[in-house]
Amino acid sequence: MIEIDRLAVELDADSGVVRAIDGLALTLTRGETFALVGESGCGKSMTALALMRLLPENGLVTAGSVRLRGRNGDTSHQSGASHQGGAGNESGSTIELLDLPESAMRRVRGARIGMIFQEPATSLNPVMRVGDQIVEAIEAHTPLRGAEARAKALKWLERVGIPEPARRIDDYPFRMSGGQKQRVMIAVALAAEPDFLVADEPTTALDVTIQAQVLELLQDLQRERRMGLMLITHDLAVVAGMAQRVALMYAGQIVEVASAEEFFAQPRHPYAQALLRALPRRAARGEALLAIGGTVPPLTAAFTGCRFAPRCAYAHEACLAAPPPLRPLGAGREVRCVLEEAPPAIPAGPIAAAGDTAGGAAAATAAEAAGVEAKPTTLLDVQSLGVRFAVRGGALQRVRGHFDAVREVSFTIERGETLALVGESGCGKTTTGKAIVQLMRGIAEVRGRALLDGIDLLAMQGEALHAARRRVQIIFQDPFASLNPRMRVAELLEEGLVALRPGLDAGQRRHRIAELTEQVGLRSEALQRHPHEFSGGQRQRIAIARALAVQPELIVCDEPTSALDVSVQAQILNLLRELQRTLGVSYLFITHNIGVVELMADRVAVMQGGRIVEQGACAEVLERPAHAYTRQLLAAVPQLPVRA
Ligand code: SF4
Repeated sequence: MIEIDRLAVELDADSGVVRAIDGLALTLTRGETFALVGESGCGKSMTALALMRLLPENGLVTAGSVRLRGRNGDTSHQSGASHQGGAGNESGSTIELLDLPESAMRRVRGARIGMIFQEPATSLNPVMRVGDQIVEAIEAHTPLRGAEARAKALKWLERVGIPEPARRIDDYPFRMSGGQKQRVMIAVALAAEPDFLVADEPTTALDVTIQAQVLELLQDLQRERRMGLMLITHDLAVVAGMAQRVALMYAGQIVEVASAEEFFAQPRHPYAQALLRALPRRAARGEALLAIGGTVPPLTAAFTGCRFAPRCAYAHEACLAAPPPLRPLGAGREVRCVLEEAPPAIPAGPIAAAGDTAGGAAAATAAEAAGVEAKPTTLLDVQSLGVRFAVRGGALQRVRGHFDAVREVSFTIERGETLALVGESGCGKTTTGKAIVQLMRGIAEVRGRALLDGIDLLAMQGEALHAARRRVQIIFQDPFASLNPRMRVAELLEEGLVALRPGLDAGQRRHRIAELTEQVGLRSEALQRHPHEFSGGQRQRIAIARALAVQPELIVCDEPTSALDVSVQAQILNLLRELQRTLGVSYLFITHNIGVVELMADRVAVMQGGRIVEQGACAEVLERPAHAYTRQLLAAVPQLPVRA
């Protein structure tokens, strides 16, 4: 249906010419779901944008072709693009999209190829009623007009599962939830009945149960209409549940193409193998996740050998002699690697081996000095915690009512233990974490008790509160937002020490900062740099170092890896587990990722609507969930068929 051949895209950036896509070739078939996977910056979204001719202003297709077959292979039934575009460059039933004039291309978009994006909030027009947006797509690409088009739009809203569609058709996007907006986006994309749909991270911003519904909807629609679907995602479990074929991208190139079954059962490229081994899962509890060291090379450079070589465990001389071509292995399988056979599985080491913590011995000494022991005593005892927000309204912003974000929440955390708090967005898990570290003071009314070694954190004031802050720290999802961009790393670390460990002199602070950078696997040069000079994973290491600076006994980890790529996530999770092993620190781990829970947590508490609906030992809750909501949550989590 679509044939992409030797496609090359360049971006004109400050750092030079970025070869974002280099010689990409793909064949996409009707009725098939083809997944394009890889970590951020590998060229997945750029491929979709090039295909749709929607590259950013600084982007240019420098070579290659993108050919679109006519509908059912019959030119007489082609879209408006071929009838009215005056393109004059069609060959038989095939259109070369890269040569089409923009006016004709506009008709191809929507009528032949639809596209849905990750963030529906930014793709829908905020000042246009949702029904009008669907009608617009119908009128632009089908003969239906006026009342007929509106009736069709209503059918689409119904088809994508919007409740009370006759009433919601005149709503503006802001009145809809994230999942509903994504459904409207799907309705807009499919309203013109395209043959092919490009879905770029269509569910990444959604909660797991909504994600399951949206993916099921896409699958149903695809089956009904025999539509081709290109699914772009970084989530390999989603791929496993949806795709028939998979292409893995690395540094602007495809490195492996295979059927989904083969890809998960026996990945051939060392990068594919490493990615699957880096995924958090229960089987890896006692061992380190395979963290892929290094980073994706800058695409401004010319490559003389394999692009993955600096990170590859099997790199040898032949890999550096010339860039390996994409080799066909038969039955549609291709791999860009010189190895004749599938590489043997890399054995996992103990956590410490991959934790990158050369400071392990020093850390153990620090733990001894701090008197932290791994004996199972209760560190935190939260009793009937409640967080109530005032709801204000009117010109004078008077209090009109209250909203209980957290209700009667009780749990305990032992020393050296990890309790995972799971649930969907808005369930109150982050608010619970923030209330414990005293970040809700003055924002909401906090009730109940949070006893740290028997002393109530919520009742503390003045000096006592100041001292308690040292013992409980928090790490956020987005380290960039939580690090002052104007301060160097050394200053960021010293700031916490000055505030919470005033007894240390300048020399002791310097010593502690050096120790911390080593513990979290940063080089000493990093101390003189600013946060923006680091990658996401390195910034999260800085945030962890800052939390550790004051030797806390409990760290609230609020989705600390959800913004990171799989390989970087593995490094951070290894680091957190290693720090727990050596320092005996306890974690309240807030996450929506069940794989992370399986790997990290000793116990799990499941939250829904501000309450804990179930809690218990990790294996017990995940294998034998007692509450209906836990069962629903776990059933919605996409699973990998084979844990590599
Ligand atoms: Fe590794 Fe060499 Fe294969 Fe590249 S070509 S992936 S360096 S074994």
